[in-house]
Amino acid sequence: MSDLPSVLQRLDSDARADADWGQVAQYIPQLAQVDPAQFAISVALADGSLHEAGACEVPFSVQSITKVFTLAIALGRSGDQLWTRVGREPSGRAFNSIVQLEQEAGRPRNPFINAGAIVTTDEVLGARAPREALAEIIRFVRTAAGSDDIHINEAVAASETAYGHRNFALAHFLAAHDNLRNTPEKALGTYFHHCALEMTTSQLAMAGRFLLDAPGMPHLVSPRRIRRLNALMLTCGHYDGSGDFAYRVGIPGKSGVGGGILAIVPGQASIAVWSPGLNRYGNSHKGTEALAKLTSEMDWSIF
Ligand code: GLU
Repeated sequence: MSDLPSVLQRLDSDARADADWGQVAQYIPQLAQVDPAQFAISVALADGSLHEAGACEVPFSVQSITKVFTLAIALGRSGDQLWTRVGREPSGRAFNSIVQLEQEAGRPRNPFINAGAIVTTDEVLGARAPREALAEIIRFVRTAAGSDDIHINEAVAASETAYGHRNFALAHFLAAHDNLRNTPEKALGTYFHHCALEMTTSQLAMAGRFLLDAPGMPHLVSPRRIRRLNALMLTCGHYDGSGDFAYRVGIPGKSGVGGGILAIVPGQASIAVWSPGLNRYGNSHKGTEALAKLTSEMDWSIF
């Protein structure tokens, strides 16, 4: 096994040496303005140490990575009841696909595609005001990360609300199938706000430690639930790129359209990588490449 700090330095310099940064997400105007030429990687080990390289103190929009936290909260609030409303199968479709939701009568394939995450957010909301649900989500993330300096970027949330036509279509479709308890506006307002959380890779790697099930890690969910969250990240965490990610990287991961990825080596390491340019599946281009190299160099795999 290689020496982690020197591997991370090499991944950072390799990322900067390669001119192909991928393309930043265009459909959220605030994210379209982000400079794609950025890279950061942080690894929190189960022994309590944190190793990193690159721009690991720059906050970025974590977007869909928050779906892991909201899923943990929803399962904590209502247990397996969520599964009557959302499936647990990979979708094989884009993150915002509408066609599958129609074919499957308003029951989203899994909690990580947008439709499933909107239902999960609706479950977290329950009968509460969005402010209360968001306070719980932020509290959970801050506790996991061990940092209070984690905030929602209101401009990103507003930008997504103004241009979120597909998400509104999904939410209305869910409502038409009686799979939304709150109004589409309320569920989506909460969803857009938690997606607009900003974190550094240092904070995200620290926050991911709750998925490690190792002594000394933040104990926020049961070991059984940790295994299940990791299973869903492996099978559904990268939308229709999930199979390729499992094949190349070999560990569970959840991507966000802001270019972040949280990946877990069960019991050993929580890894956060960020580079805003995306590949054709909408997952971080350089982030995926760096994770593939990291797991290979460190001999990390769940298989
Ligand atoms: N807030 C984004 C959306 O709903 C999340 C997508 C992602 O990060 O993959 O479109």
